[in-house]
Amino acid sequence: MAVWTFGNYAARRQRDNADQQLAGALGAASAVYRNTLDEAGQRARKTASSRRVQRAFLKGRESELRRIQSTNRDVVLTRKPSGAKIPPNAGTRTVEVLSGNRRIGRVIAFVPLDRRLAARLTRAANGQRVVLGHDGVLTGQNGSVRLQSRRQLTGTRDVLVGGSSYRVVATRLGEGKRSAVALVALKRTSAIAGAANAARWRVMGVGFGLIAALLTIAYAVAPTIARSRVSRQERDQAERVLAHVGDGIFLVDHEGVIRLWNPAAEAITGLRADAIRGRPAQERIPGWSAITAIVPVAPKPGGAHEDMGAETVPLEIAGKEIWLSIVGVALADGTVYAFRDVTRERRLEDQRSEFVATISHELRTPLASLHGAALTLREHGQDLSAQTQHDLLDMIAGQSRRLADLIEEILVAGQLDNGSLHVVSEPFDPEELVWATAAAARVRVDESMQIDVSMTTVLPMVRGDARRTRQVLSNLVDNAIKYSPDGGRIELIVHADDEYVRFSIRDEGLGIPLGEQKRIFDKFYRLDPDQRSGIGGSGLGLYICQELVRSMNGRIRVESDPGQGAVFTFELPVAERIATTSAA
Ligand code: ADP
Repeated sequence: MAVWTFGNYAARRQRDNADQQLAGALGAASAVYRNTLDEAGQRARKTASSRRVQRAFLKGRESELRRIQSTNRDVVLTRKPSGAKIPPNAGTRTVEVLSGNRRIGRVIAFVPLDRRLAARLTRAANGQRVVLGHDGVLTGQNGSVRLQSRRQLTGTRDVLVGGSSYRVVATRLGEGKRSAVALVALKRTSAIAGAANAARWRVMGVGFGLIAALLTIAYAVAPTIARSRVSRQERDQAERVLAHVGDGIFLVDHEGVIRLWNPAAEAITGLRADAIRGRPAQERIPGWSAITAIVPVAPKPGGAHEDMGAETVPLEIAGKEIWLSIVGVALADGTVYAFRDVTRERRLEDQRSEFVATISHELRTPLASLHGAALTLREHGQDLSAQTQHDLLDMIAGQSRRLADLIEEILVAGQLDNGSLHVVSEPFDPEELVWATAAAARVRVDESMQIDVSMTTVLPMVRGDARRTRQVLSNLVDNAIKYSPDGGRIELIVHADDEYVRFSIRDEGLGIPLGEQKRIFDKFYRLDPDQRSGIGGSGLGLYICQELVRSMNGRIRVESDPGQGAVFTFELPVAERIATTSAA
């Protein structure tokens, strides 16, 4: 389309150029024609100023005048202008011959409009054809021809001459009206159209050539562009994958500088990519040298040896320990590492081994006592005093109860973990439960310990599981006894507000350091795991208490000043409010 437009534009320009050339030719021809007339005028003046001519006019010698004229072609000597024999429409210059103030004759020099003049004008017009037009007849160097229309020739137009169309530019010579002669520059319109067409096709040819060249180039480079687009798409895709993959991925170049650090790596470690990228791994990743020492680097992806599995390494970031399972693969650009956060798995693993260690210990101690007591009774029973026998049996009962409690704790913890523990939700009387728990505890303590109950007179019913609540209460009272090795007072306090009934168990025992107060509710967590204080336990009690209270829509917390004792408080929702005013 654009090529077509350019082609037409070029053709139009070519036609305009042709008009301008014709106008230029006409200008040059007009100038020559005027010169020719001026020359004629000089001729006339020269003739008029000759004494012989003047005398002949003065004396009225017609024969002399004719003689003079016969040697001066293109000049007419006449006494009366009307008698002058001048070819029609020739350009003329007239000089008057005066005697005093009286005109005695005229010398008229003329320029005939003939082929010769036309040839001269055409030459002057630099080869453009110039003809003289008069009265519908065009006179050129090759003869005359009649115009098909007798319209006056002026301006620029197309005319038909002898059956052919011409582009003409014409200008009138002289001042006359009807008899006016026109100077005409002309060119066959077919020649102009041919040149215009040639120009159009030249431009269109160049245009189409250009398009063809562009198409060829496009065709040649299209695969490269397509390839680069594909590779860009692939790169974008790879970046998206890296951004969304759950594994942390980073690249360390041969200089040990981190070049890539994906969003998962940021999320897992908390180390931001902009603080890490472009920095040495040694400087930015805590314990990097230890990591490189143990993390295997496979020579190629998937080519890892069987014994080159991922390595689990600890990383301490901002005082927090995280465990990563990490593996490396060598690349041309360095080493790419992929890692997963296995902190949770690691903790579970730790808990499992802690559990095994604690439980084995917890089982072994009462079992050893049971075994010993049983053996003693069997082998020396009859030699022992009644009191000793009683004490041994007492011990067997106590230790087997401890074993049964431990096994119960393990079972409950397992059920809480897998959600199979059944907890009912119904109203029960908290008062009765507290008194019963205190009474059961009193039986187990010696005189160094005092167990008190304090509660508001009227307590609302609690919504929950009475049996599980009793289990929580006894557990907390047992702990209070256990962790008060020097005895003291234990107080069970029960308060209620509109929404909750609060059970607090206060002791004057060892207390719990502030930093440990949250963790004691974790499964298997013990302040004294090696039982250096000689106080045993599985580390499951508080975990079970917390989970049971939660399952009854309650909360549990601890307050403690180490050395001053501890207060464990749990609250359970009120089943129904106690009416404080009676209906009227
Ligand atoms: P354990 O079987 O060891 O008693 P618990 O889960 O009941 O396990 O308690 C976790 C840890 O909390 C205990 O090892 C102990 O260090 C601490 N603890 C619990 N109750 C008390 C308390 N009343 N006074 C001081 N420390 C306590």
